[in-house]
Amino acid sequence: MSNITLGIIGGGQLGCLLSQAANKLNIETVIFSDDKNSPAKNLTKNFIIGNYDDENLIKEFLSKVNIITYEFENIPYKILKKLNEIKPVLPKPEINKLIQNRFTEKDFLNKNNIRTTRYALIKDEDDIKINDGLIPGLLKTCTLGYDGKGQFKINKKDDISSEIDFSKEYILEKFINLKKEISVIISRFGHQRYEIYEPIENVHQDQILKYSKIPAEISDKIKNQAIDWSTIIAEELDYIGTLCVEFFIDNKDNLYANEIAPRVHNSGHLTINSHNISQFENHVRAVCGLEKLETKKIHNARMINLIGADIEDYRGKSFKDNEFFFDYLKNEIRDKRKMGHFTIVEK
Ligand code: ADP
Ligand code: MG
Repeated sequence: MSNITLGIIGGGQLGCLLSQAANKLNIETVIFSDDKNSPAKNLTKNFIIGNYDDENLIKEFLSKVNIITYEFENIPYKILKKLNEIKPVLPKPEINKLIQNRFTEKDFLNKNNIRTTRYALIKDEDDIKINDGLIPGLLKTCTLGYDGKGQFKINKKDDISSEIDFSKEYILEKFINLKKEISVIISRFGHQRYEIYEPIENVHQDQILKYSKIPAEISDKIKNQAIDWSTIIAEELDYIGTLCVEFFIDNKDNLYANEIAPRVHNSGHLTINSHNISQFENHVRAVCGLEKLETKKIHNARMINLIGADIEDYRGKSFKDNEFFFDYLKNEIRDKRKMGHFTIVEK
């Protein structure tokens, strides 16, 4: 083992896949998770369980690790900042703070001349009525949403669901008629030093990612624009590690940045099998200050997310040598829950 121990906050599938990539590089990991049933329990050996604001656990975590990273963006900024005072947290806590709020995230994109759908900050029902130019639209909580959670479709200004809790802040986004969705994954090591994966084409069902594939079937213009914008985002944030930018393409072939994930991303799971270096390994290399190696595609690939009971068809099955099944070993099958994924590479 090397002399670096990487601390990972979050014990879900992303944390586990990061930990496995680190172990392959001879880097020990300690996962800190607030969920005693998280996949890390079955998939990693060093595991701290408890609340992220538990002083004793924070101390224990800090004493065991040299560098800290995280697998999800919804960690209170205060906690990341506190950890960062003792051991380096990468990507920087300020980046996470900016991105974990959909409003400040979209403002950041627009300030950098990156097109997004039109949007407005919404604090109450009247704000929706004032912004009726954004209807039909999607109302999204500014913080804490994922996989479509915390989102409401607004079709008419007089038809606002009573389920919306206006004690939270929202943004209203103009609804886009989507032709396609793509994502770009970039791992940045320092100023103008990065490895970027070609755009991945994604299909969502019920706002949850279902299929990803490379190559994406898009024009060179869109491809270059998506790569340029992703590079600008990573440079402007002075980002270290892997990040993902999700994009929309509308019927008129306009590209819009949808959101930034300051972490490894589900659409990049196929890079484990399609590339010489996965998004997870590049993240670990970047945050731990290891060598940046040229990242190359070896195979075209597609990935299927196994959601809810989908996983049952895969467990215990045998696979061909171009097929890779990943089981996150979650304790319970639940509707809309990501249980595993399946990647097929073209040979
Ligand atoms: P999450 O944080 O849940 O991933 P997203 O903003 O990425 O939230 O929304 C999830 C999915 O919902 C998107 O990938 C897309 O399919 C659909 N969606 C979100 N915003 C819009 C929009 N403004 N217009 C059309 N579809 C949208
Ligand atoms: Mg998304």
